[in-house]
Parts: sequence; C-alpha cells; structure tokens
Amino acid sequence: MACIRTRFSPSPTGFFHLGGARTALFNWLFARHHQGVFVLRIEDTDVARSETRYEQDILDSLRWLGLDWDEGPYHQSDRLKIYHDFIGRLLDVGAAYYCDCPPERLEEKRKAALARGENPRYDGHCRDRHLGPGPNTAVRFRSPPAGTTQWNDLSKGPIAFDNQELDDLVLLRADGVPTYNFAVVVDDLSMEITHVIRGDDHIPNTPRQILLYRALGATPPKFAHIPMILGPDKAKLSKRHGALSVLAYRDMGFLPPALVNFLARLGWSHGDQEIFSTAELIEYFSLEHVSKSAGIFNADKLLWLNGHYLRESTDRDLALILKDFLPQQGVVTDDLDYLSRVVATLKPRAHTLVEMAEMARFYFHDPRPYEAKAARKFLTPASRPGLAALRDRLAALPELQEEALNQIFSEVQKQSGLKMVVLAQAVRVALTGKTASPGLFEIMDILGKEEVLRRLTAALESITD
Ligand code: GLU
Repeated sequence: MACIRTRFSPSPTGFFHLGGARTALFNWLFARHHQGVFVLRIEDTDVARSETRYEQDILDSLRWLGLDWDEGPYHQSDRLKIYHDFIGRLLDVGAAYYCDCPPERLEEKRKAALARGENPRYDGHCRDRHLGPGPNTAVRFRSPPAGTTQWNDLSKGPIAFDNQELDDLVLLRADGVPTYNFAVVVDDLSMEITHVIRGDDHIPNTPRQILLYRALGATPPKFAHIPMILGPDKAKLSKRHGALSVLAYRDMGFLPPALVNFLARLGWSHGDQEIFSTAELIEYFSLEHVSKSAGIFNADKLLWLNGHYLRESTDRDLALILKDFLPQQGVVTDDLDYLSRVVATLKPRAHTLVEMAEMARFYFHDPRPYEAKAARKFLTPASRPGLAALRDRLAALPELQEEALNQIFSEVQKQSGLKMVVLAQAVRVALTGKTASPGLFEIMDILGKEEVLRRLTAALESITD
C-alpha cells in the first residue's frame, strides 16, 4: 500500500480542547500504526478569529501529549496562491463560476427560505451569467443538480447524500479568501493525504468535498468520521462537565500518557482493555474499532488512569515533575533525592500532581496550624502523657528505625492506656497537621529524628487544658 498520510488541521480560533486532541491522537495513531506520515496544518484563513496565541497553545499541547508531526505546521494563510491556481483550474473546466450576488440579495433569499421552512440554498442566479472576475465577485462551485454522492466511511460505514441537498457553495470569497471546504480539498489533495480522520460534525461537508475532488479529476481520500465526545448527561462536552483545555489538564497535574490513554478510549476500544501504553495504542489502533456512537467523558476514569500512571512512574521522574508543582504550596526545592523519597510515600495515594504537592507540603513546612478538627480530636490533655513519653523515648534512640519505633509505640501505648489508634493519630497530627497521611514510620524516617522531636514538642506545647 502507498504510504499512509494523515493530517490534523485545527483552526487556531480558541484554546485547544479534548475533542481536538482526540482527533489529533487518532490521526497520529493511525499514521504511526502504518508507519505513515502525520501532517500538521493550521487552518488560519479566518483572519478575524485566528490568533497566534491559540496556535501556540495547539503546538504546546501536541508537544506535551507527545503527538509529534512529520510535516508542517503548514499555514493556509501562506498558501493563497495555490488556492487561486486551483480556482483557475475549476473555472477552466467550467466547474466553477463567478457570482456577484450582493450579500443583501442572498440574505433576503435566505430569510425567505427559512420563513417557508426550507433549508436556505443558493438559487443559482449567476450560474449561467458567464461573469468574469470583478470587484465584489466571488467564485462558486457548479454543483451537480442531480444524483447522489456517497462514500464508504471507514468508521461509520456507507453514507450517501442527495446532490440536490448541496447548493453551489462559495469557493473563493470576493476578498480572495478561500472557504473551508475548498481550502481543505486543495490542501488534502496537494499534501497527498490518504485518510481524513475528523469529527462526525464534518459529515455534511464531506459530499461537497468529494464533488470538488471529482471536479478536479482527483480521487478523494478515505474518510473516517469519529463520534463526538459527550458529557455524562449526553450533552455536548463543555466546561460544565469539567472538560477544559489540554494545557489546563497539564496544570491540574495530569500526566501525558494518562490523558492519551483516556482520549484513546473515548470512542475506540480493544476488547475490555482499559490501560494502554502508547506503544500498545500504536500497535492496536484501527479505524474498525472506532465506535459509531459518542464517547462519554468520565472525569473519575481520568483520575483513576492518572493515579495508575503516577504509580507507574519512577520516583525520580515524578520528583522532577512534582518539583514544578511545589511552588504553589510555597515549597521551592532542588533536592531531588529528598523529593524522590517523599514521592515514594505519596505515589500510592495521589491522583494528580497538584494533589501530591498538597500532600507533600508537610515534608517541607511546619504543619501548624493543624487542621482544627484534627487538633481538637487528637491533641488533647488526655493524649499529652503518651505523646510526651513517646518524644522522650524517641529522643533516646540513635536513629528512627522501624523495628525500634514499633516497640516504642506499643510500650508507650500500654503505659499510657491510650488506644493505639488515638496515639498514632495524635502523632500524625503533630507531624503532618492532618489525620490522613502516608505511614507514620515512613514519615518519621524522611523527616529525621531532630525534626520529629521538634514537631512533637510543638504539638505538646499547643495542648491547653
Ligand atoms: N479546521 C477544521 C476544524 O478545526 C478541520 C476540519 C477537517 O478536519 O477537515 O474543524
């Protein structure tokens, strides 16, 4: 088979969201699976709405996700001459014509059609007027008046449109800017794209594009329209469902492989498997297993996957990433050895790096003020003798080894008459400020004897009768 070429062609008119990332991912996976080429094209002909900061956001997001492209980014705004050349070809063969209908006339017709309950469509006024180029003159496609246009969608199966539903669309606006349907055909053709994989909201555009390929004497690429992503309430995915821009997920402490795995499963499956390394995704990805119905966004699943990938990461790798999340907690450190030990205790408990950074705070800062409820419940006059005895016994140890700690805890518990859970929780609040944390002995080991004694003393001092 000839080399497979896919493309991702976003419009830089807003921040890059999950839907776009999923489209990019499917194109990337398909290209990588077939050792093909993945092209990046920025569709920026809408000058008023396109912004460089949005383009930057797209590029940063793709890089962060690890979706590398082999060609591009091409920009439609650099390709105006090519579109004009193709317009010339269509005019030459009579497949396009000039149209000088004023916008007011078109608007009037549109309103009248809507009032009759009909779909607005161009009435063909200029079709046979044989106009030439001129000011306020657009170029329209001479769409075939009858017949059907069909294709075998690689995801949805056969789809057919009655050509009567397709009016003579504008290819080139009077200001010389190409419209989406035309530019995309010229680009996909000249970039030799073999497979167009995009959201199923583009299905109504596809018959128009196929007709344009035919008019240009070209074979259309294969099309695969992938289902939308919906919220749990089956409404179009939005912020309301917790769906944010890709980089917002980075900033919330998600790892790229977790988001990639999550996106891959939104509308694609491989048996019952939920967790896929990127290598597995490349190996297994096929368009036949793209589902026909919408993918449902499930924020809990994303958290679960992220927890998995946090646990899969090495302590050192995670320490390096976590470092950048610590300043939000007022912690600045370059001590990766210490941070790696901290990470090892938090990995099993955290779902995101933001959560992990919050949990890590007490390793670097005095835990006071304690959580009010925790202090009220466990730092009480009743626990004072136990805590004091524990502090004194620990002070006498050369270092805080697990075996010795075990013995001291059980002896102090017996002598003080406190329940073990109460003693342990009092120590936990003293060391961490909270009632939930990694294991006490792990914490003590990392904080070190001196700091543990200091925190126990501070907790004892905080207890008032
Ligand atoms: N620029 C279009 C979009 O962002 C791409 C459509 C296509 O893939 O053909 O929706």
